[in-house]
Amino acid sequence: FTSGYVSNWAALGTLGAKIPGLIIFSDAMNHASMIEGIRHAKCDKVIWKHNDVADLEAKLNAADPKAPKLIAFESVYSMDGDIAPIKEICDLADKYGAMTYLDEVHAVGMYGPRGGGIAEREGLMDRLTVIEGTLGKAFGVMGGYIAASTALCDFIRSFASGFIFTTALPPALAAGAVASIQHLKVSQFERARHQDRVRKLRALLDQRGIPHMPNPSHIVPVLVGDAAKCKWISDLLLDNCGVYVQPINYPTVPKKTERLRITPTPLHSDADIAHLVEALHSLWSRCALARHVA
Ligand code: PLP
Repeated sequence: FTSGYVSNWAALGTLGAKIPGLIIFSDAMNHASMIEGIRHAKCDKVIWKHNDVADLEAKLNAADPKAPKLIAFESVYSMDGDIAPIKEICDLADKYGAMTYLDEVHAVGMYGPRGGGIAEREGLMDRLTVIEGTLGKAFGVMGGYIAASTALCDFIRSFASGFIFTTALPPALAAGAVASIQHLKVSQFERARHQDRVRKLRALLDQRGIPHMPNPSHIVPVLVGDAAKCKWISDLLLDNCGVYVQPINYPTVPKKTERLRITPTPLHSDADIAHLVEALHSLWSRCALARHVA
């Protein structure tokens, strides 16, 4: 597909519209592209509490046992950087006869021995009905895909308007994606270095008492808790310090949880990270923001 967004929109939209009576069980924090796909499908949907398998089970249990079901969720959630309990969700899918749809956009290239994502790292890929990903983010190009059985992929290819009625990825992008994927399938250097950079960033933030959400991924959300200050800090980081960090405000995240979302790359140096943290340290004082005391 032409993007990760389009792959979610087209695949979920087609499955929901074409499988008679399908009920999609959607995690409450799912990405806009999944929500729009499900909306477009006009099928029944049930929203379950984020990463809460007890709530998912209660909702699966309450549904018509004869209805076809699909559980749609992500592996790494991009705003809090938390990771779904994929195995437990697959266990529930088996128990209730549901299909599974996993968005690995924030994990492909970055996790798993061949960069397949969190499901690969946890040895669970074969338990998922559909794995969706992007050729943006870690692969550094553009485009999206689904991986599923031959029959399911053929079904989506045959019916998804977002696949059929648009220009395909141009050869230059496809070649770039192939080169990235071939490299990240064998090289562990980038994945190891990426996690090392995350640890370094977190350690320096801790030294300065700058609060960041703990999570098991590479996404480091630095909590500001005020929309105006969040935007102001982001502007000053760019204008005065040459650092681009996006402010994340409502409605992307709930009010009072406004944050700077930092995602170091494998190529950020110790000096880059120190420069960012020292800039944040000074802006934290100027904004009179609370510090975390270890
Ligand atoms: N899925 C998730 C979870 C995302 O955060 C994003 C954001 O970009 C997408 C899908 C869309 O992917 P793409 O940027 O390739 O359109």
